[in-house]
Amino acid sequence: MQQLQKFEAIGRLAGGIAHDFNNSIGAVMGWAEMGCDETKPGTRLHERFERIRDQAVWAGKLTSQLLTFARRQMLQPREVNLNTLIEEGMKLLHRIIGAHLDVVVHADPQLAMTLADPTQVEQALMNLCLNARDAMPEGGTLTIETQNVVIGEEYCRHHPSGKPGKYVMLSVSDTGVGMDKATLDRVFEPFFTTKEMGRGTGLGLATVYGAVKQHEGFIYAYSEPGSGTVFRLYFPVLVGAAAPRVIQVEEPPQKGTGTILLADDYEGIRESTREMLLALGYEVIAAKDGAEAIQLFKLNADQIDIVLLDVVLPSHSGPEVYSQISAIRPGTKVIFASGYTAENAVLKSAIQKGTTILQKPFSMSRLSRAIRDVLVEKLPNN
Ligand code: ADP
Ligand code: MG
Repeated sequence: MQQLQKFEAIGRLAGGIAHDFNNSIGAVMGWAEMGCDETKPGTRLHERFERIRDQAVWAGKLTSQLLTFARRQMLQPREVNLNTLIEEGMKLLHRIIGAHLDVVVHADPQLAMTLADPTQVEQALMNLCLNARDAMPEGGTLTIETQNVVIGEEYCRHHPSGKPGKYVMLSVSDTGVGMDKATLDRVFEPFFTTKEMGRGTGLGLATVYGAVKQHEGFIYAYSEPGSGTVFRLYFPVLVGAAAPRVIQVEEPPQKGTGTILLADDYEGIRESTREMLLALGYEVIAAKDGAEAIQLFKLNADQIDIVLLDVVLPSHSGPEVYSQISAIRPGTKVIFASGYTAENAVLKSAIQKGTTILQKPFSMSRLSRAIRDVLVEKLPNN
């Protein structure tokens, strides 16, 4: 109980700073990228801009980890077969894990599909495998397994975070040093590590825990000193849902034409995004809050091709602004920008309908990709 309360408190803290922090990183990233574009490759100035950009990307990853733990990560779920993710992950793993370990994969060929964010699951798998590697300095066997399982009432009596239902189970086990009870009790705690400074951050299992929870699954660890460790992750079997399209792929930015109404209350983001859009060839109308966005839309309705709305805005939230705009001109194309999940029913239903979400902080290439995606968008077939 106490553990749960502690997790909740850290989660709220992380979620609380994430919005402003992501905005700030996004602005730094934006300006740095423009600096890169406007300087000659190979010059000192260009290299400095590149370094600033790389640091911003790194800082973004750190927030992303905290958000995962806090279960505030903007999930990008799609229909996936965990076996496929494991296959993909193994390519990278073999390189990191080293030759002194045997790796065995038992993948259930009949494995059911699940609705999951592939990046998050791969990240979780990676964290578990790296821990297994660290637990077997003298060598041993790392086993990855998938299986369809039905969880019943009986199981849940002994495993309080379980919920009856159909699941796909992913387990990662090792024949390493194992853990005593005191360690096992704390493994999911953020910043808990028994590794020396510089080796462990203690965020690995905390993010695994957060990711599984956010997927409405659960996780259990079993271990004893000297006899290895097993982690079992349960993800609900997919029962049919539409997956949102979220823009993530990096590709060179491409120019375009059209007018974009941009709404963001954070000046640094508003300015840098406006500059990025101008550089991409678009006309920009910028608003600092929801009310202004609606007003500017009314004044320029004929001209605006896309509205790019921050989800969290003063006066009216992004989704609220969008419902008003849709009332003025039905079918207006929209992109929502957000740094973390917002508990918002309108946004949820928009996501279910396949609305494009641009995750903050975003680079110029993702911005350009999102816009082109929305502009060429075909009508959904359902
Ligand atoms: P880190 O790996 O940075 O220490 P983690 O959250 O991934 O942080 O793990 C927390 C701690 O849990 C580790 O420091 C270690 O003590 C313990 N642990 C995790 N996985 C294993 C494992 N497979 N075998 C033994 N101990 C483990
Ligand atoms: Mg770890």
